[in-house]
Amino acid sequence: MKLVTYADHGDIKLGAVKADGVIDLRKHLPALPEDMIGLIAAWGDERSKVQELADRTAPDARLADVRLLAPIARPGKVMAIGLNYADHVKETGQKPPAHQIWFTKAVTSINGPFAPIDLPIASKMIDYEAELVVIIGQRCKHVAKERAAEAVFGYCAGNDVSVRDWQMQTTQWVLGKSFDTHAPFGPWIVTSDELGDPHTMGIRCLVNGELRQNSNTRNLIFNVYDQIAHLSRAMTLEPGDVIFTGTPGGVGLAMNPQQWLKDGDTVRVEIDRIGAIEAIMKLENAA
Ligand code: ZN
Repeated sequence: MKLVTYADHGDIKLGAVKADGVIDLRKHLPALPEDMIGLIAAWGDERSKVQELADRTAPDARLADVRLLAPIARPGKVMAIGLNYADHVKETGQKPPAHQIWFTKAVTSINGPFAPIDLPIASKMIDYEAELVVIIGQRCKHVAKERAAEAVFGYCAGNDVSVRDWQMQTTQWVLGKSFDTHAPFGPWIVTSDELGDPHTMGIRCLVNGELRQNSNTRNLIFNVYDQIAHLSRAMTLEPGDVIFTGTPGGVGLAMNPQQWLKDGDTVRVEIDRIGAIEAIMKLENAA
């Protein structure tokens, strides 16, 4: 199933995507939880009802007539791993990491899959990072790698937008990764049962139609299950938590000369079997 959060004439709704339309889940099943985190947490009980609805019901609206929002507006946490594709490690001049390198993106950096992305006042060194995004399905701790697939609810395409000078000027990357609007993901959550193996998908980033990143999730150094096993040794993972799983080579930082995103640029992230998100870069309005 493909699940969305969308705006329809001012109302924020949960939906299931069917062909080029969307089914308004709570119109048909009013007892469902009101938001995506609630639905994910209740999925064990609600899944068969939602699946049956999606199978027998015609869409309530065309996807083209609604506005898709970030599938999860306010996750409990957004974790992201750095230096997790060999070609990206090489282009940044680093050594392959012995340990998983984790940072957070502030939850206020969440952005819709097609919403404009800020070019912040504070920097001109804005870069893209196409990433497979994992949505956690179950509250869990100390998950064995062999059972980590059970902790996953589904997958999205994401852009780990990065402010390189702010990222690099200290040893902690968090500020450079946490600017407002710099964690777009979507366009929907593809549930893990529909997606299958997450480590066999082409992943690409295009800037103004030019292919900049072109890899496959099989090239992850620490794969999705390694990541969940490691993270959950430290912290409880909860339904709706968001994990950015790393970016392949081809970022603007590593181009010669370096290329930064500019006002009006279009940035598109595509992942096979998931779909694409796309945004226009837009100068931040001074408050
Ligand atoms: Zn990243």
